[in-house]
Amino acid sequence: MRHVAIVGSGPAGYYTAESLQKADDIAVDVIDRLPVPYGLIRTGVAPDHQSIKAVSRRYEGVALTDNVRFVGHVAVGSDVSIDELTDLYDAVVLATGAPHDRPLEIPGADLPGVIGSAAFVGWYNGHPDFATLDPPLDAPGVAVIGNGNVALDVARILAKTPAEFAGSDIVAHARDALSASAVRHIHILGRRGPHQIAMTPKELGELGHLERASPRVDPADLPAEGDDAMLEPGMRKSVTHLRQFAANPIAKPVTIDFDFFAMPVAIEGDGRVQRVIVERTTLDADLRSHGTGETYTIEAGLVVSCIGYQTPPIPGVPYEHGRGRFASDEGRILPGLYAVGWARRGPSGTIGTNKPDGARIAELVLEDIGRGAGKAGRAGLDALLASRDVAPVTFRDWRRIEAAEVAAALDGRPREKFTSVEAMLAAIGR
Ligand code: NAP
Repeated sequence: MRHVAIVGSGPAGYYTAESLQKADDIAVDVIDRLPVPYGLIRTGVAPDHQSIKAVSRRYEGVALTDNVRFVGHVAVGSDVSIDELTDLYDAVVLATGAPHDRPLEIPGADLPGVIGSAAFVGWYNGHPDFATLDPPLDAPGVAVIGNGNVALDVARILAKTPAEFAGSDIVAHARDALSASAVRHIHILGRRGPHQIAMTPKELGELGHLERASPRVDPADLPAEGDDAMLEPGMRKSVTHLRQFAANPIAKPVTIDFDFFAMPVAIEGDGRVQRVIVERTTLDADLRSHGTGETYTIEAGLVVSCIGYQTPPIPGVPYEHGRGRFASDEGRILPGLYAVGWARRGPSGTIGTNKPDGARIAELVLEDIGRGAGKAGRAGLDALLASRDVAPVTFRDWRRIEAAEVAAALDGRPREKFTSVEAMLAAIGR
């Protein structure tokens, strides 16, 4: 028997498990520090994007087989170390994602009310680490920094009416806070221009159909229309949306302004964020942004920085500091230790990008471990955890937690998520 541990039960973890389980004589343990599986599908993908979240049914199919086991509520690093895992398993695959925000390194970034997207997204999605975040929504202005899909998610969630969350699984504390929100003017700040956005067309197009909010683009920021021809088709569609927003300004009570060529240089306020100082930029021949010295001010009671994520380092595991990910040769970190998904390649791509990534790492693992080295695997992990009084949450337990979440949902919502580890465990009588 060959034994593989995957650390992290998000898309990269389950796609890797899906590929590995097709092999003979293999037992795969998917370990997660939370009692609930699916990582970013549960706590990253926007709650009003249920069709994307539906991919979890596919991972459930993987989890419900005999050769893949979910080992929840076990923290690698405290309950069990990486060295212990590599002793117990033929291969250990780190699918830990990139849960930390890249730091916003400007003066004032530490003021209350400046929040990274990992925390803000975790808050509205019910991640236990961020359930008590309580972001300030009492001022009309918000600055969202970054021109990627996460910035779009954050702006859209801030702009939606309670009715627009019908059918979503946004958690109760976020629904209540957003329905009482004073936010009226959202600025999405991009340090470069419309041709340099990292926003996909479907997500951008959604902003054009919001009940009480209208996207606004300054036509002066748009390049000549003929220049769109050199863009790849997806980008061209995205830029077409921006052109439509510029051409058809719609007056609605909430505005979402795209501030292009706009680099935040300082955040100011008396005890909490009150304003963002923004410097106008130009691009050089390599499309890098440079400040022009000209600044303007945005009044904002909340700043959400959506400038990318990083993987936290693990002592003893080689790490690329500049890239915020584990150092690996195409996924091979050290003998017996691998990385997959965002932990391997950094925070880029969609959920689906992890499928070929998982398949490739599974191939490498199977190539390297041969018929296995007679390691203890599952039984060894169980014995070690029992000796430490750590009781893992099984997939069957998770299904009871999920059933309780579904039963608690009202008004056509798919589920009412538990937002603390204690509440999740209470649902299974612990
Ligand atoms: P992203 O796509 O890498 O975008 C990060 C943005 O932050 C870029 O516009 C970047 O600008 C900007 N930025 C970086 N450092 C900055 C700084 N110091 N000051 C100002 N701006 C800065 O990252 P993301 O939005 O976090 O998304 C992560 C991944 O998840 C992406 O692959 C995304 O497509 C995916 N995702 C997909 C969906 C979906 O499909 N619905 C939803 C959410 C996320 P520069 O280009 O100038 O560096």
